[in-house]
Amino acid sequence: MSLISERLKVVRPSQIKVMTARAAELRDRGTDVITLSQGEPDFDTPSVICEAGIRAIRAGQTKYTAVAGIKQLRAAIGESLRRDHGTVGCGAKQVVFNALFASLNPGDEVVIPTPCWVSYPDMVALAGGKPVLVACSERDGFKLRPEALDQAITPRTKWLMLNSPCNPTGAVYSRSDLLALAAVLRKHAKVHVLSDDIYEKLTYDADFATMAAVAPDLCERTLTVNGVSKADAMTGWRVGYGAGPLALIKAMNLIQGQTSSHTSSVSQYAALEALSGRRDHITEFARAFLERRDLVVAKLKQAKGLACRVPDGAFYVFPSCAGVIGKRTPEGNMIETDSDFAMYLLDAFAVAVVPGSGFMASPYIRISYASSPQDLTRACDRIIAACASLS
Ligand code: PLP
Repeated sequence: MSLISERLKVVRPSQIKVMTARAAELRDRGTDVITLSQGEPDFDTPSVICEAGIRAIRAGQTKYTAVAGIKQLRAAIGESLRRDHGTVGCGAKQVVFNALFASLNPGDEVVIPTPCWVSYPDMVALAGGKPVLVACSERDGFKLRPEALDQAITPRTKWLMLNSPCNPTGAVYSRSDLLALAAVLRKHAKVHVLSDDIYEKLTYDADFATMAAVAPDLCERTLTVNGVSKADAMTGWRVGYGAGPLALIKAMNLIQGQTSSHTSSVSQYAALEALSGRRDHITEFARAFLERRDLVVAKLKQAKGLACRVPDGAFYVFPSCAGVIGKRTPEGNMIETDSDFAMYLLDAFAVAVVPGSGFMASPYIRISYASSPQDLTRACDRIIAACASLS
């Protein structure tokens, strides 16, 4: 009898973690690897936020907190999201997982527009649900069309996952995009919306919009998820939050109360500072990301076989690599898939990116541009050289 549960058979390892771990292995062996596979800002957490964490430690705020998070943080979240009934988790990731685990019965369906963040389908499957992947074409800006949503909904559909700005495509749903989806959702009263807004503060050529604000009548069936990881450069502090229907939030807290209890008390005080203090750093970060996006998009124009649209938000580009599929490396190996291409980039040119297959869309690669301009320039030069080496 295996020690490992049957339940885990439906879970794949995250391709992001796989590529990043492989890059770390190569680095340990002395290779100068540039890692663009992780969705993590290279900035340090702003010092005022760190100081708030240090103050919390010194003041002895190091005990268990309420399962849903400290009151002051929940109040700040309420103001930031303009919604009641907030809960705090160990990153947005845990909030999404808690919501799915709290709501899905075996076989319940979750509509996931693809390309999507690597974890959604696996989290849904782990919670016993069925991911229903709906491919969104590049022609449509990688965004879900209302007709496609309508067709994907069945009597078993419980959730629509929306992520804007999107990881990996950087697509941003406009107010009118959301209104069109809301019109479909009004016809299907049992479908809920999980709006993962973790990249809210990182939009460049588009305005951020979110379902609960655009369609207040759908508020009671929308869970809004957000956090401090990306915009405040706080990935390691592990603070994410959500707000939504009270019954759902209570059920999510029940799960959290029996698993992690809550995220670190110290991190919660730091997040409180992030949400309620001055947030000038976000404007600075966003400006830097915009420059890096433009740098990467311009450089990749020289990469033979890649075609990169300009993303509106987040910190990823998601170029098509259709033009390199079917080509051969100098050693004579055929590049058959985007995974082959990503492996070639890593093994032969020491650049770690993530293949589109991890995001349920091929043939693409995802490049995170949350690294220094120097590293991005060097990495793009290597990608250009890799593309040129194929014939
Ligand atoms: N949602 C999306 C779309 C993400 O890209 C990520 C992180 O990569 C998360 C959620 C998780 O964020 P956190 O670090 O707050 O758990």
